[in-house]
Amino acid sequence: MDKIQKSSINTIRKKLENSVKILITTHSNPDGDAIGSALGLSLCLENAGYNVVTMTPNDYPEFLQWLPGNDKVVRYTSNTRKAKEIIDSCDLIFALDFNQPDRLAKMEKPVTASSAFKILIDHHPYPYDFTDVTISDISVSSTAEKVYQFIVESGLKKFINKSVAECLFTGVMTDTGAFNFNSSGPETYAMVGELLSLKIDKDAVFDKVYNNYSADRMRLMGYCLESKMKVFPDLKTAYISITAEELKRFNYQPGDTEGFVNLPLSIKGIVFAVLFIEKSDHIKVSFRSKGTFAVNEIARQHFSGGGHLNAAGGEIKKDLNATLRLFEELLPRYIKNE
Ligand code: 5GP
Ligand code: MN
Repeated sequence: MDKIQKSSINTIRKKLENSVKILITTHSNPDGDAIGSALGLSLCLENAGYNVVTMTPNDYPEFLQWLPGNDKVVRYTSNTRKAKEIIDSCDLIFALDFNQPDRLAKMEKPVTASSAFKILIDHHPYPYDFTDVTISDISVSSTAEKVYQFIVESGLKKFINKSVAECLFTGVMTDTGAFNFNSSGPETYAMVGELLSLKIDKDAVFDKVYNNYSADRMRLMGYCLESKMKVFPDLKTAYISITAEELKRFNYQPGDTEGFVNLPLSIKGIVFAVLFIEKSDHIKVSFRSKGTFAVNEIARQHFSGGGHLNAAGGEIKKDLNATLRLFEELLPRYIKNE
């Protein structure tokens, strides 16, 4: 873990002291790290007496809606007028868990146009230069871990209460697949130890996040594994594709396909797994890998996306069959370069 520059901390502390309204935001289709980091930092700053609003570009799955502070999160797409007013009236913006402004989707324009002082806290490679201060560290497990470090180094640790701890723990837990990957640094566990000392119920958090699905979702998963997974043993790759009709048939709710992309990685010998989902006007693609195979390359080069070495995503405006054909064409090239 890199140290946060003292000058960045000092600058932010000064900006905090002079702030009237702080906005904390994250990427569209927020995941557990995005929401956990945003709510954790918001509640901590609120405890410290600051005036804070948390805003997401759009809605997020129900399994994240139990988190403390959830009730006050403003969803830009559901409440655009109010959201725009807040963006225009804030003087400090924290952007969490993303590295390029287009990850804000419809919020990109108002946020980049705002004259507020902007701070990025993130752990994705190659951050764009779109904020006044960039705190970016790819060596941490999650943005939540970097937010925790920021809180500690800013002297705000005393404002981490049980609610803040639950949010930050959720961020680390979800971005590490419940400590299955990206979680070999001792600092991660030192942080988790501190959070546990605030009496959070780790098992209950796990239960609320991972054991909160519908029977339809389980059946969709079973169907995907049985009928929709294509395995290329020689290429150490497997993918799952899902049509819009299939989602409808299984009464799809946002978040239901969360985790599906990881499933093929439990097949012996498979190091590259992909999930293709047919949306109304594009195909959403998720990539995961094991080891040194960089999935953010293929995401960036062919699917207008990006991400981490072992977890990336993107989208493409083709139909599902054409997308799968393209992928199968590209695949041998990427595996050969491996
Ligand atoms: P997921 O597959 O869970 O949607 O995303 C995995 C990771 O890929 C995210 O943490 C994010 O870093 C990245 N990612 C997903 N979708 C996009 C996208 O559309 N654009 C970019 N630049 N990155 C994405
Ligand atoms: Mn993250």
